[in-house]
Amino acid sequence: MGEFELIRHYFAAASCARAGEGVALGIGDDCALLELPVGEQLAVSTDTLVEGVHFPGNADPFLLGQRALAVSASDLAAMGATPIGFILALTLPSAEPDWLQAFAAGLDRMAQQCALGLIGGDTTRGPLSLTLTVFGRVPRGQALTRSGAQVGDLLCVGGELGDAAGALPLVLGQCQLPDAIAEPLLARYWTPQPQLDLGVALRGKATAALDISDGLLADCGHIAAASGCALRIELARLPLSAALLAAAGPVAAARHALSGGDDYRLAFTLPPIHLAALQQAGWPICVVGDVVAGSGVQLLNEAGVNIEQPRSGYQHFGKPSD
Ligand code: ADP
Ligand code: MG
Repeated sequence: MGEFELIRHYFAAASCARAGEGVALGIGDDCALLELPVGEQLAVSTDTLVEGVHFPGNADPFLLGQRALAVSASDLAAMGATPIGFILALTLPSAEPDWLQAFAAGLDRMAQQCALGLIGGDTTRGPLSLTLTVFGRVPRGQALTRSGAQVGDLLCVGGELGDAAGALPLVLGQCQLPDAIAEPLLARYWTPQPQLDLGVALRGKATAALDISDGLLADCGHIAAASGCALRIELARLPLSAALLAAAGPVAAARHALSGGDDYRLAFTLPPIHLAALQQAGWPICVVGDVVAGSGVQLLNEAGVNIEQPRSGYQHFGKPSD
């Protein structure tokens, strides 16, 4: 199968490649053309997933397609952006029809779920790697950046943390657990749910936001640094799922929530005045701490004592001290 036939058969023919809102021209020309409503800004983000680094070799292609797009779409959620479309740069060792069919189906499933149209891409031969670039729109000035946290804000997250990190030993085949525990953890690893609607609901309310990809501690450090304040996390307030507690026990579960990656929940700072209305509207918002004067991230035990050791999330090119 030649490159053009491959693109046509698996990608241009996918239902997510049909022209949608905001897409004036999709796959097939030299560029796609996007249409932005007056007064809106284009939000753009790209993520690369490399086999053996971001996902195990021989990963299920359907799950991989779903996860790759979810990871990228989560960045739109973190900006409070409405999804428009995405570009797929795919590097493949060979064109295996079964693999491509399943991968495209997984991608299509997540694209439909996120209302993201496939608007173009690039297809090359080489070690398996996926680069997805997502495009969204947000009213001018309303994007949720990392830099607006204010002293007195609450530190909130969009639901339970640590399940994806808790699933990693299962993903790598290092352990086995009863289905009732394993399934919800694996679902959070393979099909993270980008919190796109929550991001939009937080426009004009949250003062800073991001999606948690490297663990709560490391990612809160980014908000603290960008906003010029300190974030305090209360250990006792970490939302932990029953499955994670059953799989890992309370100590490791908290460690997964704080330092494990891959949750793709939103973390954001919120003036307290907005909390009740958002929670009453049904948004899954858990308060885990607050914003104070200072710098960095503090982790408070039940006595209110800071027990945080300097640490960081996963970094590809060594430690931050290097
Ligand atoms: P060009 O030579 O202009 O780079 P390509 O031959 O790479 O164009 O691609 C032809 C068309 O197919 C373009 O519109 C491109 O965006 C699209 N395309 C290529 N690869 C993919 C892919 N993996 N998924 C979706 N669209 C793709
Ligand atoms: Mg090209």
